Amino acid sequence: MIRNHPARGGWIEVVCGPMFSGKSEELIRRMRRAEIAGQRVLIAKPQIDDRYDISHVVSHSGHRLRAVGVGEAANILSVVEGCQVVGIDEAQFFDDAVVEVALTLANQGLRVIAAGLDTDFRAEPFGPMPELLARAEIVDKLQAVCHRCGGAATRTQRLVDGKPAPFGGDTIQVGALDAYEARCRQCFEPGPDVCAEPAAESRLLARN
Ligand code: ADP
Ligand code: MG
Ligand code: ZN
Repeated sequence: MIRNHPARGGWIEVVCGPMFSGKSEELIRRMRRAEIAGQRVLIAKPQIDDRYDISHVVSHSGHRLRAVGVGEAANILSVVEGCQVVGIDEAQFFDDAVVEVALTLANQGLRVIAAGLDTDFRAEPFGPMPELLARAEIVDKLQAVCHRCGGAATRTQRLVDGKPAPFGGDTIQVGALDAYEARCRQCFEPGPDVCAEPAAESRLLARN
């Protein structure tokens, strides 16, 4: 496969995959290389993610790089003023405006590298990630090691007391290591379909 970065102007790269697949590591690696090349770089991450350290991105293996916590996606634009390369970690937690922000920055000539979960614990597309993936020039889908069988994990299993989390649970729950596992398609276990609030579709069906 031949891959070229655009020779002129900006562009969007997306690094996605399940938890533990090395997204943050890869983001940090790319940002470090840009720094070595003398470019001004900055990572923004959603403020919701206060695991470990608010002022750094820290990977599960302990790699770290400075990062700025940002409340809403639109604020990224002012935070990264003067930068040439903008990293966004945990992009799935940002509101939909993150897509417009990435496009704006790329159109202004910046290199944007967004890392995030492509799917949630239900294995459904996660927040703004599908649109980011569609709009990006360069996409990488990383795999983790399946906690069950050692195969190639593409999904994130959420566990509550060791059992698959119910389908209707909150999507966002920034998590402890013991509550999540990387799983392959075969080992992934969908949670029981119990939810406090019936989903919009099933409410409609019930009425008809
Ligand atoms: P992500 O940002 O995708 O959640 P990180 O970059 O934070 O991932 O962490 C990747 C690191 O996690 C790996 O280099 C490895 O040291 C560690 N790790 C722990 N569990 C696993 C697993 N099941 N599969 C792969 N790597 C794992
Ligand atoms: Mg990460
Ligand atoms: Zn498996």
